[in-house]
Amino acid sequence: MKTFTLLFAAFLLMLLVWVIYRSKVKKSGYEVPSAFPTHWQKFLLNKVYFYTALSAKEKARFESTIQQFLKRIRITGIDTEVTDEDRLLVASSAVIPIFAFPKWEYDTLYEVLLYPDLFSEEFDFKGHDREISGLVGTGGAIDHVVIFSKPALWMGFDNQSDKHNVGIHEFVHLFDKQDGDLDGIPAILMENQAVLPWLHLIKSKTDDIISGKSDLNPYGAVSKVEFLAIAGEYFFERPVLLQEKHPELYKAMASIFQVDLAEQRKN
Ligand SMILES: [Zn+2]
Repeated sequence: MKTFTLLFAAFLLMLLVWVIYRSKVKKSGYEVPSAFPTHWQKFLLNKVYFYTALSAKEKARFESTIQQFLKRIRITGIDTEVTDEDRLLVASSAVIPIFAFPKWEYDTLYEVLLYPDLFSEEFDFKGHDREISGLVGTGGAIDHVVIFSKPALWMGFDNQSDKHNVGIHEFVHLFDKQDGDLDGIPAILMENQAVLPWLHLIKSKTDDIISGKSDLNPYGAVSKVEFLAIAGEYFFERPVLLQEKHPELYKAMASIFQVDLAEQRKN
């Protein structure tokens, strides 16, 4: 009888954990269309360069990965509405860095918040001194949250040649964080024992930035973490240019994100 009670209690506990897990992690609350709408495809063709360069088969895989993301991750507007187009830009930003990893899920992410404008370190989007366009939450209430300024997110996709895209930038941070450490060293480099060459490369590229001899975003000189993110933006937006100007960095990016994008673009 005692064993039965214990087993029953354990069963109830597991059920509870499962219900909480489902409600917190697995549902976005947004009704995702089961067939990918044609006007969504048109929007992606117009806004997301990465998608335009894919084969028909890979486009379909991109679309279904977007659907899965939208089913799982809640997107909430703070003082701003969230349109389907906003959702598509958030989801595209998320899918691009992990497209070569079909089994990948952002399991540390529960929710994306959209703010109406740039924000401050105090999460104020109305006062003075607001410079932040995107942020991966660490610790406390925002531990599983990514925040974007909605106009900045759009700007990243409106201009597809300036090597800046805050959407991709923040999701590269999450890609980096997946192994438990946000440190500019994704797990794949550790598996391939390629950490030391990567650190040397960051050092030499950062020196070039500091001495003003580089077209890399100077923000990359702040830390290894930011270097990986700005290099990711460059790679996904201008792969051919990155290969021309920084062949070694291009090679590192292609191996981190497991895709020879420049080759794809040339074909
Ligand atoms: Zn960053």
